[in-house]
Amino acid sequence: MDYDDGNIFARILRGEIPCKKVFEDEHTLAFHDINPQTPIHVLVIPKGAYISMDDFSTKASDAEIAGFVRAIGKVARDLGALEGGYRILSNNGPNAHQDVQHLHIHIFAGKNLGRMIKPADK
Ligand code: 5GP
Repeated sequence: MDYDDGNIFARILRGEIPCKKVFEDEHTLAFHDINPQTPIHVLVIPKGAYISMDDFSTKASDAEIAGFVRAIGKVARDLGALEGGYRILSNNGPNAHQDVQHLHIHIFAGKNLGRMIKPADK
């Protein structure tokens, strides 16, 4: 699958659609999810055109990968999520119900998140 330049996060990165930004640097942008599932629900995305973790982990530079991972940690810290704890999650591909075809990491925090995820149909 080719990267689709018209996906919603590509449009946010180009400034065509607003977002509630919490962090930005050379390689990474983080912003509040438009439909939060928890009191704190932030999305962290690489600025490069990567569809998925597979795409990112095979094609991104070491600097992009290091910057992205460090940004996830920093954003969670800056959100005050360390004490109570947080969950990071990334949906990749159809079985995971990835809706937006630009790699993103969800950070969930601010309440008890339960244990892991509920299984769908076995
Ligand atoms: P996925 O299911 O692909 O892992 O998650 C996509 C996430 O993007 C969803 O949690 C959804 O609420 C969020 N989202 C979709 N469109 C927008 C948007 O225009 N702005 C923001 N901030 N989040 C969005």
